[in-house]
Amino acid sequence: MESDPRPSLAVWKFASCDGCQLTLLDCEDELLPLTDRVRITHFLEMSSAEESRERATLSGAGPYDLSLVDGSIATAEDVGRIHHIRRISRRLVTIGACATAGGIQALRNFADVEEFRAAVYASPEYIATLDTSTPISAHVPVDFELRGCPIDRGQLLEVITAFLAGRKPNVSGHSVCFECKRRGTTCITVAQGVPCLGPVTHAGCGALCPAYGRGCYGCFGPMVQPNLEAMVRELRHDGMTERDIVRVFRTFNAASPEYGPVPELAAQEATEPPAEEEPR
Ligand code: SF4
Ligand code: SF4
Repeated sequence: MESDPRPSLAVWKFASCDGCQLTLLDCEDELLPLTDRVRITHFLEMSSAEESRERATLSGAGPYDLSLVDGSIATAEDVGRIHHIRRISRRLVTIGACATAGGIQALRNFADVEEFRAAVYASPEYIATLDTSTPISAHVPVDFELRGCPIDRGQLLEVITAFLAGRKPNVSGHSVCFECKRRGTTCITVAQGVPCLGPVTHAGCGALCPAYGRGCYGCFGPMVQPNLEAMVRELRHDGMTERDIVRVFRTFNAASPEYGPVPELAAQEATEPPAEEEPR
């Protein structure tokens, strides 16, 4: 194995539903050709081959040319493990809302984790958890963050091939609105007044929800430099209350730092009555 010239790929799991790792398995047709170019040396979702070593060292041996990390940091053990994985990885890419923004489990960041623990578990004394769920980048340097809940397989393959080729991934940070335009979907906000987070949400899904008449609820997380002030104003215009606005941002990417100003902006807008219907 030492003489194998192919770069090595490792896939790691932290607190998550595994959906983003499954996206890699879901690549099906592309996965076998990919193994001609890369040696997948650690991927427990796909194989238990390294399981004993994982158990022995908590995090595998390495070094790995590219590590894909799925999931958020939710326990004290996670903190030590991600630092070790960073040390044994030449490049580290985080995949999915859990790894890039703390995930759904980051809803605890806005609540009392003890209350959650007591409500959910029959024997809460056995549950060891941190008070917060945080993205990987809050703990170690990250080379690239791929958004989505789950991630898009096309974007994932682009990221892997880009890192193998030593170039920057061609994943632009534009919004879902661009994707609506590309597929010829009429804007549901403009045409029907449907509240939609598309203008501030990262592209990747192909504007799936608006194509079926449903507003985007932001599962791909924040686009690059989202205009939250205008977005909150528009959501208010489309009939959302202050509480609704805060809640719609607090789903898959609740702890994204980009969304931090939303409660204050929603409260400001709430002091004003919704604007009269005006031309868009
Ligand atoms: S980002 Fe979503 S799909 Fe991916 S692991 Fe987390 S919960 Fe699952
Ligand atoms: S919620 Fe938004 S980002 Fe997620 S699939 Fe729907 S349109 Fe795409």
